[in-house]
Amino acid sequence: MSEFRTELIKRIENDGAIPVSQFMGEAIAHYYQNQTPFGTKGDFITAPEISQMFGELVGLWCVDIWIKLGKPTALHLIECGAGRGTMMADMLRATKALPAFHDTLSVHLVETSMSLMVEQKQTLEGYDVMWHESMDQIPLSAPFILIGNEFLDALPIDQYQFHKGAWHKRLVGVDGGKLVFTTSEDKVEVSHYGQEGDVIEISPARDAFVADVAAKLKQQSGAALFIDYGHHKSAVGDTLQAVKDHEPVDVLTFAGEADITAHVDFESIAQEAQEKGCNVPPVAAQGAFLQALGITQRAEALARSANEAQINDIQTALVRLTAAKEMGVLFKALAITSDENIRPSGV
Ligand code: SAH
Repeated sequence: MSEFRTELIKRIENDGAIPVSQFMGEAIAHYYQNQTPFGTKGDFITAPEISQMFGELVGLWCVDIWIKLGKPTALHLIECGAGRGTMMADMLRATKALPAFHDTLSVHLVETSMSLMVEQKQTLEGYDVMWHESMDQIPLSAPFILIGNEFLDALPIDQYQFHKGAWHKRLVGVDGGKLVFTTSEDKVEVSHYGQEGDVIEISPARDAFVADVAAKLKQQSGAALFIDYGHHKSAVGDTLQAVKDHEPVDVLTFAGEADITAHVDFESIAQEAQEKGCNVPPVAAQGAFLQALGITQRAEALARSANEAQINDIQTALVRLTAAKEMGVLFKALAITSDENIRPSGV
């Protein structure tokens, strides 16, 4: 058994069961610090790792926002949870042809995993980039554009379970030396109709993060783009899941060794941003978002100077990113702008 789980089990045996959010936060932090998450040798593959087209189009989305902001002469470009740094590298390369845009940029990455930060530094060698452990460390003094791909799904959620006529907080406890889900004795007031066994999820960490970004956008002006998997409307259901070696695995058994995520409740985060006075156009499906930004044309352009094997790869990537049965519908793009006159593309 991994040292992480042994230590966690001992702690829970001594101090009692912990909320799902605490479990998820600790397990993810351990995972991203110690494992190889991305790529064919890793546990899962994300859109920027599937194709350079993804980061390139997100880069152009940012240029479009910059133009709509009136081409400010200073702009913070911020990415949260940048993984290997691939998306930022593709964004910066694709926008290099526009020196007026590049010259305005100060690039900031928000990352909690030291080992991924090292990888990001290698990927982004030659670019002037600053790293931060949290949003609050960025000295914001100008409009900004913030991007997060599969970042929000890694922020912890809490779960509540309906049992004997009331909602109870779901906890991770220990039984027979193994991690198990339990529920707290206390009843919790949740304004949601429930039936026996129902699970609902709330993510105070995500909601607070988006509310903070929205408040900062109102102060400095700019936009944010979150691409992630999740649902349009808040709904009942347990979406906590773990992936290892590209296969779903048990969340508790592989704690610390597998990537743990939960669906993003886009309705909830859109509401947080609107409450701060930001403009939030309807969420777009990833496929429609990328099509609107011109992914088909980009694939055609890349194919013109590619050999047969490369053309095949480009076509496969296009389908993976956009097709409804692949990432095209489950993944969604949510844009937030500081002002309703700034109309983001693709949503
Ligand atoms: N955007 C990348 C990586 C997604 S995985 C891609 O699409 O490939 C999630 C990323 O978020 C990892 O880099 C992880 O270390 C980071 N992360 C997780 N929790 C975080 C937090 N609270 N603050 C900043 N980064 C975090």
